[in-house]
Amino acid sequence: MMYNSTTDKSVSVSAAQAIAQGISSDGGLFVPCEIPSYSLDDIKELASLDYCGRAKKILADYLDDFTQSEIDECVAKAYTAEKFGGSNPAPVVFCENGGVNMNILELWHGPTCAFKDMALQILPHLLTKSLKKTSNGKKAVILVATSGDTGKAALEGFKDVDGTQIIVFYPVDGVSPMQKHQMNTQLGGNVNVCAIKGNFDDAQTGVKEIFTTDYIIDKLKSGNMLFSSANSINWGRLLPQIVYYFSAYCDIANSGRIKLGEQVNVCVPTGNFGNILASYYAMKMGLPVKKFICASNSNNVLTDFINTGVYDKNRSFYTTVSPSMDILVSSNLERLLYHLSDNDDKAVSEWMTALKSGGRYEVGDEVKNRVSKLFFGGFCNDGETKKTINNMFSESSYLCDTHTAVAVNVYQNYVKSTGDNTETIVVSTASPYKFSRSVLEAVCEGEALPENEFDMVEQLNKVTSRPVPAPLAALKDRQVRFNNVIAANEMPEYVLKSLGIN
Ligand SMILES: *Cc1c(COP(=O)(O)O)cnc(C)c1O
Repeated sequence: MMYNSTTDKSVSVSAAQAIAQGISSDGGLFVPCEIPSYSLDDIKELASLDYCGRAKKILADYLDDFTQSEIDECVAKAYTAEKFGGSNPAPVVFCENGGVNMNILELWHGPTCAFKDMALQILPHLLTKSLKKTSNGKKAVILVATSGDTGKAALEGFKDVDGTQIIVFYPVDGVSPMQKHQMNTQLGGNVNVCAIKGNFDDAQTGVKEIFTTDYIIDKLKSGNMLFSSANSINWGRLLPQIVYYFSAYCDIANSGRIKLGEQVNVCVPTGNFGNILASYYAMKMGLPVKKFICASNSNNVLTDFINTGVYDKNRSFYTTVSPSMDILVSSNLERLLYHLSDNDDKAVSEWMTALKSGGRYEVGDEVKNRVSKLFFGGFCNDGETKKTINNMFSESSYLCDTHTAVAVNVYQNYVKSTGDNTETIVVSTASPYKFSRSVLEAVCEGEALPENEFDMVEQLNKVTSRPVPAPLAALKDRQVRFNNVIAANEMPEYVLKSLGIN
């Protein structure tokens, strides 16, 4: 199966090349030129397998230049019971709140307690195999600029993976104390972490410059290395996310809550549009999904787009209690527009150019109608998010994080406004302990809180009796390994030194 670029469909590359390259040279994103089709019998067969079995089948149908044993090896290394705390890395928990039923898909049982582990635990293995096929197994150097969650998830994913080296830059005052501690105590022989004097944009700009600086690229070449990316637009990050939608559907069917073939809705707390797009691919493959409910926080650019067909990032940016969704440019929307415009690469190219130059584009009536037929957009503010956490815990004994609470809130409003009672998969993207401060504030309304992050974790545990995930509990006693703080213009030198080629 070949992959085309969203902005030039004459570009056609293999799966390994799409993953190794990350982004197409014309600036577009890689999309599969055809989507595998699953019958009800195929889904029935998936339902008889465990999570790894389901993943092996689905990945193989998209990565036809990989052997089945290569795929099996990637899956087996990624989703171990040790890393995900059990044999099902993506369990579904049934919950009823405010008269609304929800099948909560928990995607945060991995090593960093957020859903990015689902993709970043397997991407390094897919990437090293892709590089073997396309670049004679040169060592892959992964550079990441992070505002928190992605950096840690990438570090855990690439830690001690043969043939890779990873360097993460973060803004010195731009991440939470817990996130900083998570990164600075990172284990592994092939990892480096460094703080930048500046904000996230400075770190991101620095990384982008290094990627395209000739003398650095030459030095890497002579060291038999090349730059590669773990970016969320890489097809190798999107593909593993399709698996858990099939898996959740199978688990719900196996539990008897739905019959095989019956339709479900999905509701996803959305930022970069990767997670919800994976559910769209699942539907295109044959998963019976009726409605995609796209939940945003106060940065509600997607809500407006779904309702009006106008994407406009010229608006206030809000820092919210669900920081991983504080995004005004949702990169993966580009892939949906390509599919919904019947592969109109010229139109997608024009929209993306307009977005870059003026921060705005408007799709035509045809695409707009298709979007609003499939998607429902809703949002809620921080006050409503915290109220939802409080209600879920006090009335339904379910403790959720701030991002999940946005999805729950938007879903409950969806049911109220539409009366649609179709069984729904509500996606839960982080452990409540990852955002202890906000969750504590929501649960213990008005009470005094401790200052220190670890004391907050302890108090949340005392108040709720929910177990602290082992990876977060273990952090407290970890030694700090990285405490470099450098100016942004020192980043190239830091990279070369870390790689031993300065
Ligand atoms: C990244 C992230 C999201 C947003 O997911 P997208 O795929 O970018 O839409 C939501 N919640 C959490 C906790 C995240 O880390």
